[in-house]
Amino acid sequence: MTVEVPLLPGEVLGYRVWRLGDSGLVSYVSVHPDAQTVWAPGVVVAACRHGHEAPYAGCSCGLHASYVPPNPCRDGFGKHNTAVYGAVVAWGTIDTTSTDFRTQYARIVCLAFWRMQTWDHTEQIRELAQHFGVRCVELDELVDIARDYAREIPLQLRGLSPASSRP
Ligand SMILES: [Zn+2]
Repeated sequence: MTVEVPLLPGEVLGYRVWRLGDSGLVSYVSVHPDAQTVWAPGVVVAACRHGHEAPYAGCSCGLHASYVPPNPCRDGFGKHNTAVYGAVVAWGTIDTTSTDFRTQYARIVCLAFWRMQTWDHTEQIRELAQHFGVRCVELDELVDIARDYAREIPLQLRGLSPASSRP
């Protein structure tokens, strides 16, 4: 019996949380030097300081995304919540686990705010969405809107790595 490497169907959907850093939109939690990727409008390409293609097996590089939107309660309430939520489509080399994945290419397709965030912050996210040329929605609506662009990685393919997708 041959075991084939599963191929993902075209672009896949993922969810992320960012914050506005001095250089632009960056990962909300910076636990790794490579998490300093600045997300600009258009295609974002994963890079690794070790010089290999990202994501790479045995390394934590690659652009990270989850299968479900993040839980905003975890990020605080009101002025304590400075997160920028959103959805990305991903393609290229994709390394999956049961809870999230790392991808080679991605682009933001929708940004979202949480109703418990401040008015000022919500306005900031609206401006960002305009800059990116994407829709700005309430976090509760994100999944419905994001599915206009792609679908999440099928359950049976999560955690089976390495996998690749071709647009
Ligand atoms: Zn790496």
